[in-house]
Parts: sequence; structure tokens; C-alpha cells
Amino acid sequence: MISIKDLNYNQLERWVKDQGWKKFRAKQIAKWIYNKKVNSYDEMTDLSKEVRNYLKENTKLNVLELVTFERSSQDGSIKFLWRLEDGHTVESVFIPERGHNTLCVSTQVGCAVGCKFCFTTKDGLIRNLTTAEIVDQYIQSQIFVGPENRISNVVYMGMGEPLANYENVKRSVQILTDDRMLGLSNRKITISSSGIIHQIKKMYDDPSFPQVRLAVSLNASDQKTRERIMPISETNSLEDLMKTLNRLPVKTGFRIMLEYVLIKDINDRPEDAHRLARLIGKNKKRYKVNLIPFNPYPGSDFERPEKERVDQFHKILWQYNIGAFVRWSKGSDISAACGQLRKKEVQNLIKIS
Ligand code: SF4
Repeated sequence: MISIKDLNYNQLERWVKDQGWKKFRAKQIAKWIYNKKVNSYDEMTDLSKEVRNYLKENTKLNVLELVTFERSSQDGSIKFLWRLEDGHTVESVFIPERGHNTLCVSTQVGCAVGCKFCFTTKDGLIRNLTTAEIVDQYIQSQIFVGPENRISNVVYMGMGEPLANYENVKRSVQILTDDRMLGLSNRKITISSSGIIHQIKKMYDDPSFPQVRLAVSLNASDQKTRERIMPISETNSLEDLMKTLNRLPVKTGFRIMLEYVLIKDINDRPEDAHRLARLIGKNKKRYKVNLIPFNPYPGSDFERPEKERVDQFHKILWQYNIGAFVRWSKGSDISAACGQLRKKEVQNLIKIS
């Protein structure tokens, strides 16, 4: 049985045609799923009963079940835990911001990349999410928060390395940005990668991958430190990564975001900031730097820097005229490190059983 949300618009049209139906059925079905966001075929009232029954018997409409959620009393962000059909769980985070709302989505159950500061990777990679499982995080979250809280921005920064699940991530972006489907602006979608060089190149060379923003987890300004906290750097060196990023055909309005998790006494010293500025060098207009003070979780090996250290780092970058801002993680009262709510729920289940 196919999942209807696995199909981009062209595939949906082809599938409709293969069932012996007229092309306009695709438009009708897409309208109900993506525009009206109904959760059952019975609500698709302009389809005949026969068509609705056929869809029910031959396709799956929903692939996520809400297990639990936590709402932050500090900033209103909501962390959702979803159960997939095979029983695994993944998280998404709704982040209300001034003037817009963002959803952070997951792309894998677990992650193989192994960043030392990350909670998600502790159990390794379990599996890739399907396109439908990525898209449904958006639809179900939007239904939960209601139309008065429209989610306009999507960041692929939850559990998993998006570019290691290339085809499903690509198709989910097609669905998110297609005007006949979810119709979000390309500029409001960000894919965050740990820096897998050949996959980044592939994404920019791929004409069917909609142009979206790229964020890269840099987290260090020298090879040795980066290798220490991001083992992926052993095969994707900082030098090669920066060379690649400096050459990408980046359009106006699609600046690359360099993500930098500030970890106490590891990468947060003034000399790290100066080195980062030199690394960016003359390519200032191509990048924005996003400084994220590390969010410790139970059992983590690292600590969050003092606020003064964060401010000092930030100031040094500004002295070089580098666009940098600090993002204190939202919802620090709600298991905010990625993968933490999932872990908590799994532990609860173990306790219950
Ligand atoms: S930070 Fe991202 S890429 Fe690195 S291990 Fe965690 S989920 Fe994977």
C-alpha cells in the first residue's frame, strides 16, 4: 500500500492517471491533504464515495501518531514526539518567533554521524524517515497549533543528517515548496548538514532539488578541534569543506548559515573567534554565523560557556564585519537537546514494561 504523502505532485498525477482517473483528481486530492489538511478520506467531500473507498483501501493517508508533547512555559515552543508505524519515535519542535513560526523536523531515526556533543547519535542510525514521515511532521504540527499559528519556516535540523537521506529529503522539500501542495517559500526552508561534501555538491548540482537555504555545522575553526567533536571531519576536512562552500553558486537571499555550537573551553576562546573570522576571510557576504551555546543534557561530556564568553565571541566576529547572531536554544525547560524527549519516553516505556 502506498503512502499518498510520499508522492510529489508529478508522481501524484501519474498515480491518479494509472488508476484510470482524470488528471484533475490529483488537484482535488492535493487540495484536501495539503491545503485543507484533513486527516481522513471521508472528509474529502467532493470525491465520490467510490473514489474515497478506493483511496482508503489502496493508500495510507497518515503515518504519524502523536505520543506526547511538551510546551515550554518560557517561550511557547512545543516539542512533539511522534510514533511511526514500526513503533520507532522521532521529534519535531514548533518554535514561535516574532512575526513567524518555525518547525524543526527530523529526517532519520537516530544518526550515524556521531557528533560528540549530540544526544541523537548515542544509539547510532536506526533508519531513514520516508518522505511521508517528514512531510507529516509539518502537517500534524500545523493541525495541532491551529491555522492562527501558521508555520511559515521549516528547518531540517532535528534528528538525523538530512543529506544522508537525500531522496526522501528532496521529495519532502518539493512537496513543501510546490504551490499545488504546501506552497512554502523556498527562502524559508533550511537544510542543515554536518558537512558531507559530496552530498552538498550533489544538492547544488541537482536541478530537481528546489533551491533552499543551506546551513552547515562548522563548530570549530581548526581541523584538530573539529575532528575532536565531529569525527566526520576526518573524511570531510575543514579545508575542503570551506573550499566547497566558497564555490557554491549561492543566489542572493540564500546566504549559507555557518552553525557554531559554542562549547566551554573547547571552541569558545577569543583565538577561536579570530581564527573563524580568518577562515571566512573575504567571503563575508556569503555567510551568516549562528552561534549556539551548547545545551547540556544528562550525561553529556561538555558544558555551556558563560554568557560573557558567548558575548565576547560574538563581538569579535562583528569587529570583522561578519554577520553573526546568538541563538540560545528555545525551550531549555523542555528537554530541548535533540533526541532528548524521545529518550525520556523510551526510558518511561522501559520502566512501565
Ligand atoms: S548533530 Fe546532527 S549530524 Fe551530528 S550526530 Fe547529531 S543529528 Fe547527527
